[in-house]
Amino acid sequence: MSHSCVSNAKYVNLDNGNFEVYANIEIKRGDQITDFYTSPLKGAKIRRKILRNSFFFDCFCQRCENPVCDVDSVKCPDCPGISKLQNPTLQNSDYECEKCAKILKCEEIEILEEKFANLIEKVDKTNSKEILRLIETLLNSLNENHYLILETKRFYIYSGSPVNSIKRNFSFDILRVYNEIVPGYSKERGLTLYEAASSDLDVNLNQVEDKIPLLATTKERLSECLECLRHEKGEFEREIFKLAGKKFKEIQEFENLLKIMNKI
Ligand SMILES: [Zn+2]
Ligand SMILES: [Zn+2]
Repeated sequence: MSHSCVSNAKYVNLDNGNFEVYANIEIKRGDQITDFYTSPLKGAKIRRKILRNSFFFDCFCQRCENPVCDVDSVKCPDCPGISKLQNPTLQNSDYECEKCAKILKCEEIEILEEKFANLIEKVDKTNSKEILRLIETLLNSLNENHYLILETKRFYIYSGSPVNSIKRNFSFDILRVYNEIVPGYSKERGLTLYEAASSDLDVNLNQVEDKIPLLATTKERLSECLECLRHEKGEFEREIFKLAGKKFKEIQEFENLLKIMNKI
């Protein structure tokens, strides 16, 4: 299968050495079926460098030519604007502020991203407070959708912190970007849908008077999550698949209970 930084299919390795391919989104007749050779969750420069060095080609997929969600963008030091890759398909592209046109050099941003990547690697992944402080630091220089910020928010979600509105909001921040860069029934969306659905329910169930709409949207998200993870073989994905199914059933039972109570 060819590579695309926004692929339309995924493959799942089977125990017998074969693999199965599933469409993540609708694939039209004549469209190429694509997977990814390098993580779509990384920034353009990293993806393109890996593709060049390990697979010997330069990617000119739609996403590389027209970056989405500003996952590569940084904050302009001179104004409230954001600074974007000037020429996304150039490995050494500089950055230009969309508001004041200030130029930031490629090397300058590379050093910054490398410094932050080191901080992320070193942060205690079980210490949610420390992770939050790191996100604050990153937000001083990086655009809120920057891939390093999303990566750090993911660490927060899995840090074992109790469910709270921060965890809920981070899940939705990530999901909004994943809807674009790993669309459809991707594993990444499936895992995030579970976190978004379950934390949204936990945070809001006692807050809202009318629970029916909240239960309905949670069920919708969970059923999409189940669809995303249905064919995944990884241990973690299987675990989340099971939890999502269990939660889905619990909500159904709770809905039935509410119906009976309303009749009384
Ligand atoms: Zn690409
Ligand atoms: Zn500016």
